[in-house]
Amino acid sequence: MMNAHNDLSQRTVRRKVLVVEDNDLNREMLCAVLEQQFDTIQAQDGFAGLDALAEHQAELSLVLLDVYMPGCDGFDFLRSMRADSRFDTLPVIVATASDSVDDELLCLKLGANDFVLKPYNSEIIMNRVTNMIRLRESAAIVNQLTWDETTGLYSRELFFRTVEDFLTANPDGEYDLVCSDIDGFSVLSDRYGSENCDELLRELARNLSDAIPGCIAGGRIGADAFAFLVEHRQAWPAEAPQEALDNLPVPNVSLKFGVVEHVDRATAVSIACNRAMRALETVKGRHGLLVAPYDDDLHQRQELEQTIRETMEDALDGLQFEVYYQPKHDAKTGTIRGAEALVRWSHPTIGFISPGLFIPIFERNGFIIKLDMFVWEEACKEIKRCEDRGLPTIPISVNASRLDFDNPDLPERICELADRHGIDHAFLHVELTESAYAENPDTVVRMLGEMKSLGFSTELDDFGAGYSSLVSLNMLPLDIMKLDMSMVRQATATGDFRIIESTIKLAQVLGLKTVVEGIETAEEAQRVTDMGCDLIQGYYYSKPLNRDDFEEYLKRG
Ligand code: C2E
Ligand code: CA
Ligand code: CA
Repeated sequence: MMNAHNDLSQRTVRRKVLVVEDNDLNREMLCAVLEQQFDTIQAQDGFAGLDALAEHQAELSLVLLDVYMPGCDGFDFLRSMRADSRFDTLPVIVATASDSVDDELLCLKLGANDFVLKPYNSEIIMNRVTNMIRLRESAAIVNQLTWDETTGLYSRELFFRTVEDFLTANPDGEYDLVCSDIDGFSVLSDRYGSENCDELLRELARNLSDAIPGCIAGGRIGADAFAFLVEHRQAWPAEAPQEALDNLPVPNVSLKFGVVEHVDRATAVSIACNRAMRALETVKGRHGLLVAPYDDDLHQRQELEQTIRETMEDALDGLQFEVYYQPKHDAKTGTIRGAEALVRWSHPTIGFISPGLFIPIFERNGFIIKLDMFVWEEACKEIKRCEDRGLPTIPISVNASRLDFDNPDLPERICELADRHGIDHAFLHVELTESAYAENPDTVVRMLGEMKSLGFSTELDDFGAGYSSLVSLNMLPLDIMKLDMSMVRQATATGDFRIIESTIKLAQVLGLKTVVEGIETAEEAQRVTDMGCDLIQGYYYSKPLNRDDFEEYLKRG
């Protein structure tokens, strides 16, 4: 009887055992015993055994081998089998008739794993076979945890451990950690299939181990991510050598690299890998085998981003955001004709944070929608305050972000806000950039049209900043075009204002009013005024002002 512990039969697949024994009676008897739990394949001598090995190689879990057989005996069988690497891990139990120590020793030297004595005892045989198979399978599991089968590199966990051990054992060495990752790997595996992609990973692992100088250990730390510990290198090049892409089974492979220099022994290797991967993220989607360092700059930027994400909700509730207003002046008369609402964040611990920094983060995480609603409401309140205090009432423009247009209720919500604060819609303008239009043209056209029909004016922001297309100018229901300040900077630097001039003409042909932004000097103001620009915004007149200064500014006229 088998004890429960020693029973492999609950497992779904029956293991296969090859029985090589010339004595028919013995062979039949062995197989009858084994078949309680295993499938058996019989061979009546060493030659037949080797044939069976070749035929059933992948299915076999164990070989039970008699030593003395005519023709090819057990020793010859072992010699041939162990010479073939396909059978490296296939266990062999040898049956010896005598208690000959010499036979046993020779069998061991030839690669046998265990012995049973003749005459056969069925219970001992079953236990030995079961134990040996279990041992082999556990070893295979350990191997899987240790080595990545596809690439032959360390698996993730073991890479971390190995590197940690290495760093401890080499306290004086300076090392760098390099991570690499394949651009769009899931698309590649969709297109070329998992076999080709496994081959791709294998080739890449080999290429990279060779191409990265001073490579000490390599691991596969993700589906398509590798990590290497390497000798410290003074200056990492901005691009990895092309040899990394030699002989790949898949075309157009693109890789990116992130490097943490001087791996710090006080930081877990997994964290160092994360940092290298984060550096790598900064060059993703760009062309070339780019290498990005993880440096203090990136560290601080990412820490700041994290802090921004963690504190933004409280900041809105805690009134840390404040809206500033930057005046827009009539180019010809100099009178104030409007203002742009620009948000400011005074963080209790970080201090002032520039919108150029937090707006892109909010645009990624969606918080911009809430923040923009806050700015709309502040703008409404400000218009009302000016009215109430008898100050000149001027339109205020609010910046809309691409995400704002995901909400089909936006025009209605702004309408509701304006009405709640008792404000004439003509005093609210919306500024949007062309990139918002480019991503979702139909929706943006429809919603801007709605805003216009509700009485709000529409301004196209940053025209000429890079995205500009005549198509969007033609399609969008616009009232005003704002020329991007980069056009002014460029014109001043070169003395050539022709692009600004033609853009203003273009706007006039389309029936749009123009605002030139970023005017800093009297000369710039004069040039664009001469070219027919309607409104001027920029430091020449005023920087963005907080509410009190803005009201003071209005009072002075
Ligand atoms: P923008 O809409 O193009 O705003 C103009 C930016 O140029 C403002 O920067 C303004 O302070 C600055 N500026 C104005 N005149 C001059 C000048 O003469 N010279 C120079 N060098 N700069 C000038 P700010 O306030 O830092 O805002 C940066 C960007 O952040 C804005 O660019 C806008 O895209 C975004 N932003 C600001 N507030 C909001 C908001 O409430 N909502 C949304 N969605 N975006 C906002
Ligand atoms: Ca703007
Ligand atoms: Ca702008």
